[in-house]
Amino acid sequence: MTTHIAHLNCATMRPVGSFGGRGLPSDMVAHCLLVERPEGLLLVDTGFGTADLADPRRLGRPFVTMVRPSFDPAETARAQVEARGFTCDDVTDIALTHLDLDHAGGLSDFPRARVHVFADELDAARNPKLNERARYVAGQWAHHPTWVEHRPSGEEWFGFTAVQALGDDVVLVPLTGHTRGHCGVAVRRPGGGWLLHAGDSYFYAGETLTPPTYQRGLTVFQTLMAANNGQRRANQERLRTLRADHGDEVLVFSAHDRSEYAALAAAESH
Ligand SMILES: [Zn+2]
Repeated sequence: MTTHIAHLNCATMRPVGSFGGRGLPSDMVAHCLLVERPEGLLLVDTGFGTADLADPRRLGRPFVTMVRPSFDPAETARAQVEARGFTCDDVTDIALTHLDLDHAGGLSDFPRARVHVFADELDAARNPKLNERARYVAGQWAHHPTWVEHRPSGEEWFGFTAVQALGDDVVLVPLTGHTRGHCGVAVRRPGGGWLLHAGDSYFYAGETLTPPTYQRGLTVFQTLMAANNGQRRANQERLRTLRADHGDEVLVFSAHDRSEYAALAAAESH
């Protein structure tokens, strides 16, 4: 049972090359969730962690130069958990959409948490191909977290194959393409219905509207970043259908869209 869900921005990024909004967005967030359950706290994604801020070089010079994270200590998940009166040890579980460096950086701030991830994603991160090496930073999990590897079972969630991660309240939904084992994380809302953290399966809210709208620079970027662009596009289409058919039951959002984050964070505080 989930009792409260908070929306956190665990990294602000201002990429080079926004070209007045025609390229990459000029302002991106790392949208994470802090979910309160009687059994403990769950984080969905972690943004950058205190170890990244202490040594940004581990993220790689190209990434830091191009993406320009603000590295604000107050934005780390750890700082925001503590600001809410919790301790890091209260976080018993972390569910990751994928292991890209801007999603897994906070893992080591919560060393006691079990880390739920798709088996294919952990395999990709541990054995990256040449063109995957820059996106995964092994130092972010050098503390040997307790991994909980999930594999798709016969379960279904709104027509998607899925796997229950924490009871029937937290469900991993494979949305591969951006990375080999990329997934969405669905969390049951206390008041009914679901939130679906769709990770990096899209970057701009318009991409999942009917009809979709695209920002050309972002489409090029996502295509370049995709481990499998065909799967990425097919899953974006399925999210569009989900939004059209079940938008009243499932609230879908992505990791990096500032407007989606702002709307949900504002709604939460009312
Ligand atoms: Zn990302």
